Amino acid sequence: MLSLKGKVQTVLGLVEPNQLGYTMTHEHLTMDYSCCYFPPPSGQEALADQPIDMKNLFWLKQNSYSHKENLLLYQETDAVKEELLQYKAAGGGTIVENTTTGISRDVKTLKQLSQETGVHIVAGAGFYVDATHSSETLAMSVEQLTDSIANEVLNGADGTNIKCGVIGEIGCSWPLTESENKVLQATAHAQSQLGCPVIIHTGRSSDSPFQIIRILQEAGADISKTVMSHLDRTIFDEKKLLEFAKLGCFLEYDLFGTEFIHYHFRPDIDMPSDNERVLRIRMLIDEGYEDRIVIAHDVHTKNRLMKYGGHGYSHILKTIVPKMLIRGIPQNTIDKILMENPKQWLAFK
Ligand SMILES: [Zn+2]
Repeated sequence: MLSLKGKVQTVLGLVEPNQLGYTMTHEHLTMDYSCCYFPPPSGQEALADQPIDMKNLFWLKQNSYSHKENLLLYQETDAVKEELLQYKAAGGGTIVENTTTGISRDVKTLKQLSQETGVHIVAGAGFYVDATHSSETLAMSVEQLTDSIANEVLNGADGTNIKCGVIGEIGCSWPLTESENKVLQATAHAQSQLGCPVIIHTGRSSDSPFQIIRILQEAGADISKTVMSHLDRTIFDEKKLLEFAKLGCFLEYDLFGTEFIHYHFRPDIDMPSDNERVLRIRMLIDEGYEDRIVIAHDVHTKNRLMKYGGHGYSHILKTIVPKMLIRGIPQNTIDKILMENPKQWLAFK
C-alpha cells in the first residue's frame, strides 16, 4: 500500500493531511434513514406524513425519527450544497461522510458535492447495522466481507471508481448480532491490510464500546486509528468513560446540535445538551486525552439542515468553538480536536 501511505483518500483522490483544515469526522450529506423509522406517539400518527412546516418544526425536533420524509436526506442535495458552502466560508475544510452500505451511500453525489464546493469529502466503506444487512451480506463469510470492504477502498464503491478513505461507520447494535460481529472482524482484517482509518457506530449500551474494541483487537485492528462514535449518548458514568479512554481509540462526541427530551431508540437515556458535551470534552482534556478527541454533528435527518430550521454543518465552528473558549479550552487545543487529531486519524499508515 505504498501509494496510500501518509496520504488521505478523498472522493477526488489522494491529498496531503496538511490540506484538510478543520474537519468534521462524522457527517452525512446524502443518505436514507428509513430503516430506523419509529412510529409516532399514540394520537400523533397523522404527523408522520405531514409536510415539513414551521408549525411542526418543534414536534419534528422532538420526534425526528417519526416523520417519514424527514428521514430522506438524499432528497436535499441542493440544500446540502448550499450549507457546505457556508461550512467552507466558516473555515471548514473537510467532511468525513461515513454513510455505509444499508443507508444508501451515494459516492457519485459526494464527488459532485466536493467538486462544486471545494470541501474535501472522505467516503466510508463497509456496512451499517444488522437491520440493514441484505440477504447477500448476511450470507457472506468474514473473508468475503473483508474483500468487499478492501475493494471499496482500493478500487471504488457503488460500482464506480470513486474510492472510500475510511472504513465505517460500521454499524453495531446492542446486543451485537452475529452478522455485525463478522463485519467487525472483516473491518479489522481490511484495516491491517490497508493501514486505513476506521470509525464505529456503537450500540446503545455503555458496555458496547468495550465489547467492540475487544473484538477488533482480537482480530488484529489498530485501535489507535479507530474512532468510537456517539459517546455522548453511550457512556454517561465518568469513571467508566475514563476506563474506556485508556483503551486508546479516538473518542468522538458527534451529536452536537441534537437536544431533545425523548430518545426513541433508548427512552431511558437523557440526551445531553451541547453545553454538557463541551464540559465532558473539557473533563477528557483535563485527564490528558486531548490527542484523542474528535467532534461532529452527525447530520442524518432533514430537520438538522438550516433549510428546515436546523443547525447545519457550521454549528460547531460558529457556536460551539466560542463556547469552548469560554469554558477554558484554549484555541490550540480546539485546533488539535478539529484539525490535528483528524489528520492523524485519516492518514493511511
Ligand atoms: Zn452517522
